[in-house]
Amino acid sequence: MQTLVTGGAGFIGSHLVDVLISRGQRVMVVDDLSSGSLANISQHLGGGNLDFVEADICSELPLAGPFDVIFNLASSASPRYFVERPLETLMVGSIGVRNVIELAVQTNARLIQASTSEVYGEPEQHPQTESYWGNVNPIGPRSVYDESKRYAEAMIAAYVRLGRLDAGIVRIFNTYGPRLAASDGRVVSNFIDQSLRGLPLSIHGDGRQTRSFCYVDDLVRALLIFARRRERLGPVNLGNPQELTILELARAVTELTGAEDAIVHHPLPQDDPTQRRPDISRARELLGWEPEVSLRDGLSRTIEWFRSELDASRRQATE
Ligand code: UDP
Repeated sequence: MQTLVTGGAGFIGSHLVDVLISRGQRVMVVDDLSSGSLANISQHLGGGNLDFVEADICSELPLAGPFDVIFNLASSASPRYFVERPLETLMVGSIGVRNVIELAVQTNARLIQASTSEVYGEPEQHPQTESYWGNVNPIGPRSVYDESKRYAEAMIAAYVRLGRLDAGIVRIFNTYGPRLAASDGRVVSNFIDQSLRGLPLSIHGDGRQTRSFCYVDDLVRALLIFARRRERLGPVNLGNPQELTILELARAVTELTGAEDAIVHHPLPQDDPTQRRPDISRARELLGWEPEVSLRDGLSRTIEWFRSELDASRRQATE
């Protein structure tokens, strides 16, 4: 049996692939490499357990299977990307998800769909439980991501209600770790990259907005547990409930890199949520899961990876 990971060359996907392959499983990755990179999975290419298919999930997916589980992680999750490529973002969350659902139906696979904390929009309930329906601006610049993910949830729930699909929905909160692309525009990757290059950290707005950051290994562990909970739709919040302001995050990063505490303020993007923290009671109950990696440890591991990438690119530049 094979496991299919769409978006498997991306940040979260490639960490999931690492664990699946370390458990001796056969994995197929489908990725169009629009935001992922082959470098993230190169250690497995040619190893016999990984099949790589370069394809966009919005195109036809003539994959035979059989698959026991399909993880649908294909989508950019960076606000920079979905503002630059709004139509692609909408398509991947609608047509793309429909294609993956049909593939799961045909191959009798359980589908794990990556949804997002963005379904809660600018939350009026704090922390956010899964029973909260959210507060999303349907026509704002972020809506292409938020609404397509909401649509994907609706489509999956409908297939499940009709008895045609076994699926689970995970609402993933901010996640960080090695292989976040430096160019991604996310706050953790920006801060670490800037700090290592001796640049001031770019704070959007006054920096008092909050987020809750989960280390990628913790997240992957939860995805794998949920994959085994057949017939459970969720949705399940996955994230680390430790909440901090963006200013506090900046301080944590500079403390660990040893860089100066310099910051520069940029305008707050439109519809940027002011607060976000998952209530993970459901994940605790259903999956027996909670995050284990502290912010300090997770940031240290991430900084180490960014440092070695930066060193490698500097070496290459001088060769
Ligand atoms: N942010 C920031 N500086 C950056 C990048 C992001 O202050 O260089 C802010 C962003 O405006 C948001 C928070 O950090 O308030 C998290 O942004 P990110 O893009 O990582 O994820 P989001 O939670 O918005 O999807």
